[in-house]
Amino acid sequence: MRRSSVETKRMKRASLVNSRLTSEYGRKVQEYAYDPLDTLIETILSQNTSDVNSARAFESLRFRYPRWSDVLAADQAEIAETIRSGGLAEIKADRIKSVLSLLSRQRGDLSLDFLGEMELRDAERWLTSLHGVGPKTVAIVLLFSLGKPAFPVDTHVFRVSRRIGLAGQKSSKEAVQRELERIVRPEEYYNLHVNLIEHGRRKCKARAPRCGECAISDMCDFFSQSEK
Ligand code: SF4
Repeated sequence: MRRSSVETKRMKRASLVNSRLTSEYGRKVQEYAYDPLDTLIETILSQNTSDVNSARAFESLRFRYPRWSDVLAADQAEIAETIRSGGLAEIKADRIKSVLSLLSRQRGDLSLDFLGEMELRDAERWLTSLHGVGPKTVAIVLLFSLGKPAFPVDTHVFRVSRRIGLAGQKSSKEAVQRELERIVRPEEYYNLHVNLIEHGRRKCKARAPRCGECAISDMCDFFSQSEK
């Protein structure tokens, strides 16, 4: 793969950032792979809400409908009522039903395990074609459940990686994902993804970043520009 000088510089910075954040917050190891369909539905429920609310909605859904076939057979308005705590209940119920209906029609099986056998880009394309499923959700399923090299970009990863110059300052979320996938070693995707989120929550906050306490301020573009 041919690299521009900007990309080579970002690659070195990504490696240093990864080491520093690992020293600061610990190495994150994925203990086990979650079921891909569970992850997909959990991530749909997490859209536009907090982790606490989406976890509550997922638990309610699993409690009321222990099998995904129960959700498929259920009335959509009842599903929406069950996941109300996660917000946008009608929209999310519709997305969940659509995924399950498609799997039932197309595969005859309510499982996404078949994606594990596909090439990365084919699995990505299949997931992207689902109604209401965007790049972040796709990358989460690929990385967390299928062990494929995708770098999910949530709001924290997006903000922090642009501030520290691992991606272009004006890049979109999709572009940031591609940029990170090119400069980070795939075996480090999980660790860096989780530590960037932790850094975003603890130090590199959206409104008032705590740059004075930051372990990577010496290589941060945002910090060096604010010092001028
Ligand atoms: S120096 Fe400030 S803006 Fe840069 S990564 Fe650290 S907390 Fe974020």
